[in-house]
Amino acid sequence: MTTTNYLVISKIQLKEVCIHCCTSPDDGERVNAQIVETANKLVIVDAMLMRPHAKEFREYIDSLGKPIDRIFITHAHPDHWFGIEFFADVNSFALPETIQEIQMMGQLEIDFHRSQHGDLTNDQIRLPKEPVNPGQVVIDGVTFGLHKVEAAEDLFMLAIDLPGEGTLLAQDLVYNKVHMFVGQRSMDGTTCFEGWIQALERFKNSGYSVVVPGHGVPTDGSVFEENIAQLKTMREIYSTSDGSNFVQRSVAAFPDHGLVSMLEMSNYFLFLAKF
Ligand SMILES: [Zn+2]
Repeated sequence: MTTTNYLVISKIQLKEVCIHCCTSPDDGERVNAQIVETANKLVIVDAMLMRPHAKEFREYIDSLGKPIDRIFITHAHPDHWFGIEFFADVNSFALPETIQEIQMMGQLEIDFHRSQHGDLTNDQIRLPKEPVNPGQVVIDGVTFGLHKVEAAEDLFMLAIDLPGEGTLLAQDLVYNKVHMFVGQRSMDGTTCFEGWIQALERFKNSGYSVVVPGHGVPTDGSVFEENIAQLKTMREIYSTSDGSNFVQRSVAAFPDHGLVSMLEMSNYFLFLAKF
């Protein structure tokens, strides 16, 4: 494990690639951004929330001394795309639905985070340049599988696997010992619980030995069942809460989990926000 000023970096050496899982501090929502280092190139997954963290992420990438082939933005939540401003010189890819969601929701997210963090966070909508569809792409001889996940932690998300390595870069399909953001609603107001559980069911028997989450440390395939159980408990707390005790009950249910701010954000979107 390596630490820089802000980031904690765990390296996972696989057969053909090395994954550098880079974690921001809690004021950056403890979000992970990933580097997949192949023999000759770097493939980046997500870009962090806060400017100091994203800048340091880019500096660490540049210190590896290999060219960046591309960056994938997995979904439209700000802790995954705000830092794209530090990758303006790089080919950037996202699902077309994600590009559209950033167009629609980006300004609201910017206004909220600037009210909290001022100039330490992104100041304008910056879109991934290229839409990408599910399927396989080969980069520097390594196959990347692109999977579209719908109506889960976000409305649309990209999960990326490395079939030759038994590895899933799950990003926010999976959380590991971190309180989940469960505040996303579909356009018709449906909460995220059912869709997210179904998505985890879809991936759980795929035989992944390494699962890299969007929040929390890298883990293995046992995390799917853990996350399904966590979501069922969260769904029960939500359905029997009026919002006054949602956060406290969730903390009591998962006392060893980090990042209570995820519950506060969830509480806001589940009980208070009116759209
Ligand atoms: Zn996230």
